[in-house]
Amino acid sequence: MKENKHPIKMPVLFIGHGNPMNAIKDNELTQEMKRIGGSLPQPKGILCVSAHWFTKGLFVQSEPQPRQIYDFYGFPKELYEVKYPAKGSKELTERVMKLLPGSVKVDDSWGIDHGTWSVLVHLFPEAPYPVVQLSVDAQASPEELMEIGKKLKPLSEEGWLIMGSGNILHNLRKIEWEMEDATPEGEQFDLWVKDAVELKMSEVLLRYQDHPAAAYAVPTTDHFYPLYYVLGAADVESKVEVFNEVRMMGSLSMTSYVLWPVSEEEE
Ligand code: ZN
Repeated sequence: MKENKHPIKMPVLFIGHGNPMNAIKDNELTQEMKRIGGSLPQPKGILCVSAHWFTKGLFVQSEPQPRQIYDFYGFPKELYEVKYPAKGSKELTERVMKLLPGSVKVDDSWGIDHGTWSVLVHLFPEAPYPVVQLSVDAQASPEELMEIGKKLKPLSEEGWLIMGSGNILHNLRKIEWEMEDATPEGEQFDLWVKDAVELKMSEVLLRYQDHPAAAYAVPTTDHFYPLYYVLGAADVESKVEVFNEVRMMGSLSMTSYVLWPVSEEEE
């Protein structure tokens, strides 16, 4: 019988977060997040790379009780009342510092932002696990970000969940509110990324800018870059589970991935 005791090797996760309002919605997207959360082994804690902590350089949080931040404007009052009281983890912060020597600094000026909590409220309600955010380094290249992910890989083996939160297709200026699906170029880009993730062709994704729809789909890198950390941290042989493959409003996709490690019995 398998014991769910650490260290248990964790999958890695890229999750599309989309509109902050998803935090208080009960819809197909959030129900799927709940299902996925329930299917994951219990982590020791969560290292989340959120698109909304987009920094010059690489930073990690260290607060024992990180504050939750409401990093958006003009939303209904009830969204500002959502509480996700996750604790921090000194142990996880220290592991990140140790695995990325010299390249990461502690910064507690930010907090747990909506890229993290708007999905964690569904994945793991009640905030049972500690959460530490790692920033998206705006100055790093895709190769460098993937390299950071590779260096963080031991965390999964130790039972920590590495999670990237962003959106593959994310162009808010081109949103077409009335459109149910994506535009053809939006769909093309999202499917191209999906194929590459499923076929383990991360190398192809490093040159995403060569894709004809790249400028449309990824006008800024903040929501796309968390994917590289996740791909870097995943097992080469991982099994890919796609969920929330939903494209909407022309230029937004929620497509999300769990990259499951291949268990020893299956190898
Ligand atoms: Zn966002």
